Amino acid sequence: MSGTVSGRSVYDVAVVGGGNLGLWTAYRLARRSGLRVAVCERGWAGAGATIRSAGVVRQQGGSETAAKLGKLSRELYLKLGERLGLDSGFRDTGYYIVAETERERESFLRLVEVRREAGVENEWVGVEEGRRRFPELNWERFLGATYTPDDGYVHPPVAARNATFAVHLEETVDLFEMCEVREISERAGGYRLRTSRGDVEAERVVDAGGPRGAREVAALVGLDVPVHAVRHEIVTFPKLGAGMRHPFPLFFNVGKGYYVRPEERGALVGMSNALDEADPSGLYQIAFDWDYYERVRPDWEDAFPALRGLPVSRAWAASIDYTPDHLPIIDEPREGFYVLAAGGHGMMWGPALGEKMADLVLDGAARDLPREDIELGRFGREKDPDRVEDMIALPFPKR
Ligand SMILES: Cc1cc2nc3c(=O)[nH]c(=O)nc-3n(C[C@H](O)[C@H](O)[C@H](O)COP(=O)(O)OP(=O)(O)OC[C@H]3O[C@@H](n4cnc5c(N)ncnc54)[C@H](O)[C@@H]3O)c2cc1C
Repeated sequence: MSGTVSGRSVYDVAVVGGGNLGLWTAYRLARRSGLRVAVCERGWAGAGATIRSAGVVRQQGGSETAAKLGKLSRELYLKLGERLGLDSGFRDTGYYIVAETERERESFLRLVEVRREAGVENEWVGVEEGRRRFPELNWERFLGATYTPDDGYVHPPVAARNATFAVHLEETVDLFEMCEVREISERAGGYRLRTSRGDVEAERVVDAGGPRGAREVAALVGLDVPVHAVRHEIVTFPKLGAGMRHPFPLFFNVGKGYYVRPEERGALVGMSNALDEADPSGLYQIAFDWDYYERVRPDWEDAFPALRGLPVSRAWAASIDYTPDHLPIIDEPREGFYVLAAGGHGMMWGPALGEKMADLVLDGAARDLPREDIELGRFGREKDPDRVEDMIALPFPKR
């Protein structure tokens, strides 16, 4: 698509970025208020981190906020599928987060209570019970696991399709692809966005630029937003070893930084190297680190022998977003200018983040979440030693 922004060029809200976060924000704003919304996406909707992801959706967060966001997202994915008359793309396989050390066991046991408080069905599964329920996992390695039966994953291309389709059906939303936002200036009553397809005026702007845009878009209005990008890697295997059940439940070895989920008749493994640092290239595609893959492979083959010695069908490495505490940013740091970022969990939290951003725009506050977990200002303050970071996250860089 080319040419100028068509139709009206004056909006109530301009969303910068048409990934999972920007699309869900536009969709929820339109459904709830009928506001006129423009989504400016410099490429194709959903084609940033969103379609490159593994799509894991877990309600087993590492804090109450994380658990609430996971629960709400799961519900919203399912509802959208129903509304569109299409499959939601969500598969509830059940999900084990395994504890390999005593320290993990203790904190995971505490988290079971936190998640239950947030309304998530969650239990501790001991080794004997684990062997009975999920015999394919090598429980010799573990001290137990937390488990939620209706966690799972969403197939990322379907999630992107549905969110794009939902936005496209809303009469008050215009989705502009190949529309890069290059400058943002304040004007009376709002903002003017200079884009590659002409000017857009809006009373309010939502920065949903993702790993490769949130920081840069905020900088256009002089704000410093600590959203960075780092490599995350995926491999898929076309099938499992002979006699293995399929689909099998997801599992996550947080300490080792990898997780395994079903993919078609085989499996997908996602992994992050704790030694990788923020990637400044600006690219979504990053070189795959085969040395790291070979170093970690024996670990997951030992934990889940169904994958032992299998050929790979696909392998890719891409930019994942992260924030310093792995929690999201949902804030209005300047009047009428909003920042939305997923802290690397934009598939499991994307729909809920869109809903919470709609709360903030329409009602002035994101309902049901503590401000200190989501505001931008938390990063500039002295660290409160009692404040919990989300420990159920990949080993993202510290800076
Ligand atoms: C390999 C991998 C695996 C992952 N697995 C999971 C997972 O299992 N579960 C999970 O929850 N999360 C996962 N993630 C993270 C998840 O994909 C992201 O958190 C999520 O997609 C972020 O959504 P977003 O909308 O913020 O970003 P994006 O999808 O990147 O969308 C941002 C959009 O903004 C656009 N943009 C940027 N700047 C501008 C500009 N100036 N003008 C116009 N448009 C602009 C970009 O083109 C892009 O399309 C994974 C990520 C990767 C890379």
